[in-house]
Amino acid sequence: MTLSREAIVEGLQRILGAEQVVTDEDTLKRRSIDNFRKLEAIFGAWTLPPPAAVAMVGSTDDVAAVLAFANEHRINVVPRTGGTATEGGLETHVPDSIVVDGSRMNRIVSIDPYDMQATAQCGVPLQLLEDEARKHGLTTGHSPQSKPVAHMGGLVATRSIGQFSTLYGGIEDMVVGLEAVFPDGRAARIKNVPRRAAGPDIRHVVIGNEGALCFITEVTVKLFPYLPENNTYLGWTLKDMKTGFEVLREVMATGYKPSVARLYDPGDGGIHFSHFAAEDDCVVLFMAEGSAGIAKATADGIAEIAARRPELAPVDGELIRAWFEDLTWGVDKIAAEDERIRTTHNVNRTTEISAGWSAINDIYESAIARIRAEIPDLTILGGHSSHSYINGTNMYFNYFYDLVDCPPEEEVTKYYLPIISIICDETLRFGGSIVHHHGIGKARAPWAPEEYGSSYPMLEALKAAFDPNGIMNRGTIIPD
Ligand SMILES: Cc1cc2nc3c(=O)[nH]c(=O)nc-3n(C[C@H](O)[C@H](O)[C@H](O)COP(=O)(O)OP(=O)(O)OC[C@H]3O[C@@H](n4cnc5c(N)ncnc54)[C@H](O)[C@@H]3O)c2cc1C
Repeated sequence: MTLSREAIVEGLQRILGAEQVVTDEDTLKRRSIDNFRKLEAIFGAWTLPPPAAVAMVGSTDDVAAVLAFANEHRINVVPRTGGTATEGGLETHVPDSIVVDGSRMNRIVSIDPYDMQATAQCGVPLQLLEDEARKHGLTTGHSPQSKPVAHMGGLVATRSIGQFSTLYGGIEDMVVGLEAVFPDGRAARIKNVPRRAAGPDIRHVVIGNEGALCFITEVTVKLFPYLPENNTYLGWTLKDMKTGFEVLREVMATGYKPSVARLYDPGDGGIHFSHFAAEDDCVVLFMAEGSAGIAKATADGIAEIAARRPELAPVDGELIRAWFEDLTWGVDKIAAEDERIRTTHNVNRTTEISAGWSAINDIYESAIARIRAEIPDLTILGGHSSHSYINGTNMYFNYFYDLVDCPPEEEVTKYYLPIISIICDETLRFGGSIVHHHGIGKARAPWAPEEYGSSYPMLEALKAAFDPNGIMNRGTIIPD
């Protein structure tokens, strides 16, 4: 029998103590969404059922007890840590869900400069871990723009990626081992070793599960030497994206490993580079880092590739450095952006995809053309590539629109989803992946069967095996 809202709260209070169970109306409304429906919070126009409660877990045992309770009574659970999700992964569309909030599990367990790894509970903000690592002359190498506010559990759960990914990789390249709790209340620990070949690598069942299979309680990540004094910045302007992709490809395919490799089109670049680039300029930029010899060899190699292309005009590296140092988004910047949207009704959204070198320019061109033709009230439309690999790159579409004759709570259906739909369709048409790093959430879950193709049953089998009662974040990754 399903439990009433009151019985769910009472059950949680028995497990955690009353003070760890949040039920005030304002918090519950705010916990019903994430950035995907951020206009609901900005304008106070709520559309989703608020959760029954937010369970503030403080330990692995707390998580195990709450999940076992939810599993027994078939209550939907939405795991949460930093709350910076962008794709609806935190939405509580199932009435009387429990939000399991791990943000109080915020202890750095160890920094180990000899084995070069750090262990942190799920609620540790990445910035704190990074600051601690730097005291030892080390870095996590992970620097998503949400670094000050995103937490380790969420960063692993979404397969996040940082600005230095071309050198350090995404979070999946950094996680050494972890602990997670499954819906039956059992905790599983995957030990910390440099590599294993003992069958499939089950870390990857947990990394990127978006709270749809398990709750991550602790993670161990690699550490690297922190040598910012050797950082070298390079940039060029050019007139078309196709050439820009060719430059990125040549750098990667030649084997160079800059930490940053980015390409901006004029629409997106105009937001950042109007102090040195013309209105119709694209900008390609790099950062080389590491020990002095490696940083110099990387920068020299990239400069050599650029010098072979007379259509590239060099930009002063100091301009790139100054811009790059102000890229992260803390609480203040996020609040200022929300206030801008509240006062102007001009909304900024993004969607990121990936594809091989042979497809990326087609996806970019066709998606931009269709968005421009089909979506009304756009004020800015553009994109950039910010994470490159030997076999391809990502594209991050960045778009602004005015809400015209549109109540804020209808923004998602009138503007945001139609744009996402174009981007997903064009990406799939050319063989790319519809999600590069934000997670699939609930927003892009409808495209999951097409994204996975004939491997989709493997995903369904994982869900059935690890969450047989379907209580973990329903509608996330696998559409409802
Ligand atoms: C301004 C801004 C900039 C951003 N920049 C980047 C960027 O550069 N790179 C990038 O990759 N992303 C970026 N993001 C997206 C976001 O920060 C990442 O997805 C991040 O990894 C989410 O971490 P979080 O702790 O905030 O997780 P949350 O928002 O709390 O949760 C995210 C998802 O993970 C699940 N989850 C959370 N905690 C757990 C847990 N302990 N166990 C299991 N599941 C869990 C949730 O259910 C949800 O589906 C940005 C977002 C914003 C708002």
